[in-house]
Amino acid sequence: MDLPRNPTRAVKVGSVIIGDSNPIVVQSMCATRTQDIDATVKQSNDLHQAGAGIVRIAVDNRKDAKALEIIRDQTEANLSIDLQENYRMAALVAPMVQKIRYNPGHLYHHERKKPWQDKVRYLVDIADKNDCAIRVGVNAGSVDPEKKDMFPADDSISPMLVSAEEHCELLDKIGFTRYVVSLKDSDPDKVVEVNRRFAELRPDIPLHLGVTEAGLPPDGIIKTRIAFEQLISQGIGDTIRVSLTLPNARKAEEISAGNEILADIAAGRVRSVVAFDRSHLNIISCPSCSRVENEAFIDLAEDVKKMTEYAHDYPFTIAVMGCRVNGPGETDDADLGLWCGPRAVTLKKGPETLGRYSYDEILGRLKAELDRLIEHKLP
Ligand code: SF4
Repeated sequence: MDLPRNPTRAVKVGSVIIGDSNPIVVQSMCATRTQDIDATVKQSNDLHQAGAGIVRIAVDNRKDAKALEIIRDQTEANLSIDLQENYRMAALVAPMVQKIRYNPGHLYHHERKKPWQDKVRYLVDIADKNDCAIRVGVNAGSVDPEKKDMFPADDSISPMLVSAEEHCELLDKIGFTRYVVSLKDSDPDKVVEVNRRFAELRPDIPLHLGVTEAGLPPDGIIKTRIAFEQLISQGIGDTIRVSLTLPNARKAEEISAGNEILADIAAGRVRSVVAFDRSHLNIISCPSCSRVENEAFIDLAEDVKKMTEYAHDYPFTIAVMGCRVNGPGETDDADLGLWCGPRAVTLKKGPETLGRYSYDEILGRLKAELDRLIEHKLP
């Protein structure tokens, strides 16, 4: 595949090399519960067989780490672990994986008095001793709060850039260069802008591209394609993930979608792309992962899409998220947001919580709120 590439560093992750003009690595993440060992082994292997260069697995606690020991023995995939607040889990799992992903915005919640720099040093030490690469995963929905306060509320790009830059500076200062950076947002235009600006500042650092919470196919693929076409055709991006809301049995479609987008860009088949139309209803939903608390989430995301078809011509964003870990923060910027708990779904209007409803009630409540928004929008 002949694609232009920025002169980034080579970062080895198990059997693949990200950056330095190596083929763009297509990756994905398991959406099964990590402690459901059989399901996670099956999904890792499905993704690996579909061509995933790296498979990410969330590890939130010791039981997940214990499960990973067995999963590791039953898959050939290069594994990356996804850390949330408890960054110390890295010590337990690093010997079993090839990459550690941390989010700078999550390093504030645990051991609040400890400087984030010390936590990064801890992670680097673990990565170094265990032959692991690192991903600095900056996400618009969970950006470092201090960085947010430095800029006006309508500038979501600058806090992400500043956060990524300062982590890169620290990693370089420590002498650890085996890392990649991701800067993700659910808005493809923002993904393009933030990655373009970062690539200008640090053309040497490999970038992992993705539109987070892109949603259900085909819309989720279209949004992702829009961002990737603009970035990859300019040489930006060394590894990609197409984040789609899919049932577990179809998760490998993330890999085929990624490969198709890359092949089309390489062949110049980019003009047929449907523009991301901001004058229409935009449904975003997370790709789901092991943190999903009720499997009804996938059906709910599909039902929301069907139920809201009547509002297609209104420029609202509705976000549907699978868990209480990231759902509350990631729904703040949507006009209406739903995040799913084990038994109830929380409905939000912007950052304001409107209430918690059962899975049977939520669609009706969402429709009532959507109708209210439409009414206010009418001339
Ligand atoms: S919102 Fe929750 S369930 Fe969805 S991908 Fe993010 S962490 Fe996983």
